Amino acid sequence: MSDGHPGRLIIISGPSGAGKSTVVRQLLQVCDLPITLSVSATTRPPRPGEVDGVQYHFLSAEEFAQQKAADEFLECKEVFGLGYWYGTLRRQVASGLNAGKWVILEIDVQGAMTVLENKSLNPISLFIHPGNMDELENRLRRRQTESEEVIAARLETAIAEMQYMHRYQYEIINGSVDVAVAEICQILKDQREKQRCSKS
Ligand code: 5GP
Repeated sequence: MSDGHPGRLIIISGPSGAGKSTVVRQLLQVCDLPITLSVSATTRPPRPGEVDGVQYHFLSAEEFAQQKAADEFLECKEVFGLGYWYGTLRRQVASGLNAGKWVILEIDVQGAMTVLENKSLNPISLFIHPGNMDELENRLRRRQTESEEVIAARLETAIAEMQYMHRYQYEIINGSVDVAVAEICQILKDQREKQRCSKS
């Protein structure tokens, strides 16, 4: 539900395996703010248990290219160099913002840089990481959904992604999901208060 406050974009990035999705899912459940998640489109095939329209809009390469050509994405990137595209749909963002929601974009660093370049969007940006690379590797392996080749590629990408951390307003170390969620929820509440004060 909107509470009369204007909508706002929230970018959450971080290396694959940093626990972003878990943190975001819990944030949506426990943080008492009008937040919503923008469901991205991707050409990646669904993992077991993933449902079209819930985790992602799963598109064929052709469908994705058509939507890209029709300028339906606020940003879209080939994230891991493995041939999969991911994109933020303008309509998802617009419907959330128009309803006064704070819209979370859980996107990679390249997509985040594109959104940050557009100053009129004025997003709040957060970078989540697990503190050290060994922990990241453990988490990717525990997930057991990816091949060794994909894990190696994702680790390499993670190292590159960590270089972008300083471009974000907030760094969140995800040691404990509960603590990370509480920290993010508090940041959002502080930002909302700031926004409210600057308007009055
Ligand atoms: P996964 O395949 O593990 O769900 O996501 C892989 C990566 O793609 C994650 O870093 C995630 O944040 C990123 N991602 C998901 N949706 C989007 C999007 O719409 N745009 C961009 N640029 N990256 C995305």
